[in-house]
Amino acid sequence: MKLYSTNNPNHIVDLQEAVFKGLPPDNGLYMPTVIPKLPSAFFDTIENKSIQEIAFEVCKALFVGSISDNDIHTIIQKAITFTAPAVHVENNIYSLELYHGPTLAFKDFGARFMAQLMAYFLGKKNNNINILVATSGDTGGAVASGFFKTDGINVTILYPSGKVSASQEKQLTTLGHNITALEIDGTFDDCQKLVKTAFLDSDLTQKVNLSSANSINIARLIPQSFYYYASYAQLKKLGKPIVYSIPSGNFGNICAGMIAQKMGLPVHHFVASVNANDTFVQFLNTGTYLPKPSVATLSNAMDVGNPSNFVRINELFNKEFGVIKNHVSGYSFDDKVTQNSIREIYNRTGYMMDPHGAVGYLGLMKYLNTQKENLTGVFLHTAHPAKFVDTYEPDMKPKVEIPKALSDLENKQKVSIKMKNDFNVFKSFLLQ
Ligand SMILES: *Cc1c(COP(=O)(O)O)cnc(C)c1O
Repeated sequence: MKLYSTNNPNHIVDLQEAVFKGLPPDNGLYMPTVIPKLPSAFFDTIENKSIQEIAFEVCKALFVGSISDNDIHTIIQKAITFTAPAVHVENNIYSLELYHGPTLAFKDFGARFMAQLMAYFLGKKNNNINILVATSGDTGGAVASGFFKTDGINVTILYPSGKVSASQEKQLTTLGHNITALEIDGTFDDCQKLVKTAFLDSDLTQKVNLSSANSINIARLIPQSFYYYASYAQLKKLGKPIVYSIPSGNFGNICAGMIAQKMGLPVHHFVASVNANDTFVQFLNTGTYLPKPSVATLSNAMDVGNPSNFVRINELFNKEFGVIKNHVSGYSFDDKVTQNSIREIYNRTGYMMDPHGAVGYLGLMKYLNTQKENLTGVFLHTAHPAKFVDTYEPDMKPKVEIPKALSDLENKQKVSIKMKNDFNVFKSFLLQ
């Protein structure tokens, strides 16, 4: 497998380099030079395959010349240890539940796969690395859990003191072993700045082998395509074209679906569902891409004003606006509408949605209402409702079931290192 930079098609690297660098030096994003088509026989029998078997075929096609079949198999067995059920909600509507991993959100797919891929490449070199991550909440937990006890990898997570939810903080600070939580006296932007400064400090990078676990890493994108195929395997028997609605922030999740479609997955249409951060929807409406500062919403994992993966989507469709519009529609919903829909769906069907999934549901319904054809609708349900129970209205809160993985966290002891927002302090910490 080879990858190029979206800023320079002549800058080509192998998979290992793309995974450890994360970003090309020219600030583009890595994209595969070839997106192979899966054989039609794969789709003919897909309903008999598990998500692990599907993931194996997808990786085998992509990773040609980079990883042996045996090693791909091992990586998938270790990373993909949970399923993605497409649960019937009403009429032709299904919820693709992506929250059955250890941190109850879809980022487990990407984080666990990246950890195994890195461990595999490191094992071959007998090397050690230090991963730095700044988090505003969700990503840190998934990365911490994904890399927990992975040989040769130390993870340092920086989070803004007092600015993540109680359960998010516990997910970051209770693992120990190779995971260190730095509680920074500052904002998420300060944390991000410390990490960026570390990567630019050549004295530091010569002495310590640093890497990132950024969400734009290709190793996090690829595994996010597995569950699109897995949902098709479950819903194919209905015999209707499938529409996917994706609650989107940085647009990595939807981009993975578009790659699956390029590899041959039958997708009728995509819906990009967003909260008040509607840069992409405005782009679809006007043809102009105008990033703006993010605003805070209930579905805070999607509070992104300048989605990084917009560049990749443009690349997938040869930067042709008309082609993009044919493949994807976009709708934006405010917090009030989102909260109302959670209550309304719960009262009508008994199904509980988290605020991100609810945005996905709303976008799906809005699109389907414009269509005459008989379609199957799937919204990606990206987090367990219990993760966002703080955002529910008082009458709804008690109705949210708290899974054991989350309630167990309450009894665990938080361990963090408090640190001033000061690069020199951070640097000497990394050098010890
Ligand atoms: C990260 C996240 C999203 C947004 O996914 P993108 O790939 O950034 O578009 C949606 N929902 C939840 C729960 C998330 O954690």
